[in-house]
Amino acid sequence: MRQVRIIGTEESFPLGKIVCVARNYAEHIRELGNEVPDRPVFFMKPASSVIGAGETIVIPAYSQDCQHEVELAVLIGRSIKGVAAAEALRAVAGYGVAIDLTLRDVQNELKSKGLPWEIAKAFDTACPLSDFVAAATVRDPQNLSISLQVNDVVRQDASTALMLRPLPELIAAISAIFTLEPGDIILTGTPAGVSRLHSGDRVIATISEVGSLTVTVA
Ligand code: ZN
Repeated sequence: MRQVRIIGTEESFPLGKIVCVARNYAEHIRELGNEVPDRPVFFMKPASSVIGAGETIVIPAYSQDCQHEVELAVLIGRSIKGVAAAEALRAVAGYGVAIDLTLRDVQNELKSKGLPWEIAKAFDTACPLSDFVAAATVRDPQNLSISLQVNDVVRQDASTALMLRPLPELIAAISAIFTLEPGDIILTGTPAGVSRLHSGDRVIATISEVGSLTVTVA
């Protein structure tokens, strides 16, 4: 099983489930023509969808529109269930950089039919993920610059301060439904600027104080 490493420590965790938050930045909700949800919207990616730095994105043949979504990734360090928001950050072991790859054409068709999103979000290579930095080294996870470049052109450039629901609230809401275990990861939503990827593209996702992640498209 793939291990999640915390840089500069001996700590590592077996990669668990990846719980993703949809629609957590207002400008991104607007660019997709969605509505701000009353309750947070969650979906999951399997551990098998993860690739690391330097690896290659393989866009499935059934899509013509694979889009990038840069997201702050939160690594859970201990088992929690029904945690209060005020206690939630204590369970965070580290922070990383993730790209939530989304087959937008496939997702839109599934959404219009009321069908689940997995084939648009959970395919092999759909979750490029960096190594993690220890949570204690990040002064304020809710005030980090978050950006993504494709072939040196900036596509996404925002701040985690713009999340509609901050991390404690998200972790509390998720742990009310799913027990979170050491090695589980939360992807916290993407800011505006998502765009289509093409064969040969070089993608660099960066979050201040956390790191950067480079992958290429096959
Ligand atoms: Zn996303």
